[in-house]
Formats: sequence, C-alpha cells, structure tokens
Amino acid sequence: MRLGVAAALVDGALVPGDVEIADGTVAAVGLAGAGRGVAAPGFVDLQVNGFAGVDFMHADRHGYALAGAAMLATGTTAYQPTFITAPAEHLVAALGEVPRSEPDGPRILGAHLEGPFVSPQRLGVHPRACCRAPDPVLLARLLDGGHVGQVTLAPELPGAFELIDLLLARGVVVSAGHTDATAAEAHLAFDRGVRTVTHLFNAMRPMLPRDPGIALAALARPDVAVQVIADGHHVAADTLCVAWRAACGRIALVTDAVAATAMGDGDFALAGRNLVSREGVVRGPEGQLAGSVLTMIDAVRHVHALGVPLEEALTAASTVPARIAGRPELGRLGPGAPADVVVLDDELQVARVLVRGS
Ligand code: ZN
Repeated sequence: MRLGVAAALVDGALVPGDVEIADGTVAAVGLAGAGRGVAAPGFVDLQVNGFAGVDFMHADRHGYALAGAAMLATGTTAYQPTFITAPAEHLVAALGEVPRSEPDGPRILGAHLEGPFVSPQRLGVHPRACCRAPDPVLLARLLDGGHVGQVTLAPELPGAFELIDLLLARGVVVSAGHTDATAAEAHLAFDRGVRTVTHLFNAMRPMLPRDPGIALAALARPDVAVQVIADGHHVAADTLCVAWRAACGRIALVTDAVAATAMGDGDFALAGRNLVSREGVVRGPEGQLAGSVLTMIDAVRHVHALGVPLEEALTAASTVPARIAGRPELGRLGPGAPADVVVLDDELQVARVLVRGS
C-alpha cells in the first residue's frame, strides 16, 4: 500500500518521495511518484491525564477506547496514561484498569506515575495531602499494580535515590519533576541515572542567574532529555525558543492533556480535583494551571509557528519521546520500522493515521 505522500520524515530529515507500507511495517521510502503531504512517525505522548471527556484516573475499558480514538485523530499513535498524586489505593485501582493492548487505538506504553513522591513546594494541582516521602515499600506496591513505564519524582527528597535505583533496575524511566532541586541536586540525580525531566519549567524551581535550578541544569546537560508543554500558556514563547536552541534533538513535546481536551469550555475533573477549562486554559481550584487541552498536532503547529523547522517539530513529537520511553522503533519511519505513521496535509492538518499499518 502506498501512502501517496510527497515526502516523509526519515531520521530527522524530510526525504522526497512516497512511502510503501506492507505487513504492518514500512517497506520503503523515497519512492517515485507524485503525492501530497508529509508522512511522519506517529506522535508519542508521554503525559496524558485524560482526553475527550475521559479522566484516566477513573476510566474503564470503554473510556480508554473512547479517549484513544479521539487521540488517534490528532496523530497520537502511542501514549502513557498519566496519574497525578493521589491516595495509593486510587493509584493501584487506576493502574489495574490500564489496558495492556488496544487493538483499534493508539499503543499504550505503560502508565506514567506523576507522583506521589513529589515536592510539597512544587505541587501545581497535585493534592498536598497525598504527597509522600520516598518510600520503597509504597513504590513496590504501585509498580505491582500494573504496567508502569515512567515515574516522575522530586530527586532532592531524602530517600529519592533509593527509588531511582529501584526504578532503573526494573526498567522504568525516571523523570525529575514537581521538584525544587537546585542545579547541584539535579546534577547528582542525572549522574545517578535520571535522564529526563517532566514539563520543563513548570512545577520546578525557578531559574535565577546564580541559582539556575534543575531547569537550566537539564538544558546544560547533553545527556538529559526535556519534556515541554508547548501550548502557548505553560511556557512563554521566548523561553521555549531558548530551550529549543539549547536542547534541539533532545526536547520532547508532551500535552499533559486532561479530560477537557477535544471538548468545549466547561467543568471537568482530574483525579477528583475540579478543573475549569476556558478558552484553551485549564485551571485548578486555586487558579493554578492544571494540565492542558493541548493535542500533539497543536503542539507541533505551535512550535513551528514560532520558527522551529517542521522536521525538528515532528522529531520532538515522535522520535525523541519514543526514545525517552525506551521504544525508539516507534519514533522511526524507515524500512523495517513499525508502520505507526501520521500523514499531514499542506496546512498541517492530520489527513491520515496508521497504527501497525492500518
Ligand atoms: Zn505535572
């Protein structure tokens, strides 16, 4: 089957020509023939709390199917259902509901536990009463609750390094986030094996010239990937542009989407917290930013509109997050790669999405 495209994103570059798909994989790229639009690896979203009215914390199989279908329409072919800080029994119950496979929807890469081992000083919308000091017994209980792909924690908390070691030994990605870590504390965590940070700049120690904090420490380290919410609200345009120049090739777009995404303005829930979504901004009970209504294709369009080349924007939506998740094959479009593909038209609208070639 030919996609009928004019070009494809292959190893970070736009290669002219059509793409052939066969048996669920990419068979060939750069084929002669007139086509329209661009094929890219399907988008990989590392942080999705909910979508299309569904809050994953309280979703069943039907909810996952509904949210997955809506996400697929925005180009996302793989994602991590994300759970913010909550009582352990709620997290265990939510982990138990995450489907292992979703035949007609995007791939589910494992859950992203965005807590409860976070800094009380950098909570965002996370409930203070549910934060926990690093606790290996609690961590083991959570990991036994379901398939966990990523854990966000504050590495400066006493005992955090023991959790980092346990997570890395079990093949779970450790991301620093909701953290008050200084640059020095951040470097120790990176040296310990933390290789990425959750929503760079947000719920993080602020940057100062002589106290750069974990955000600038992450940007300064070529071995650390950064995840960013590029919705025009979480990070100012200048900040995003500087981060992009510092970390191009290791910057991943995430949505941090909540149930309000792909819905109209109104009241929604995030793990039992009340949210209000209005004109593209989602706020929690105290008026703080509380996730987003961003989609991956909107994030791509947003950074491209700020001057980021399309190749780099698409790479940040696919190749980099797939690599962070330890699934680099899902972020590659080339012969032999799984045919998880998004096709964009000349206006950067999603024209077609394939998962496993169909
Ligand atoms: Zn967060």
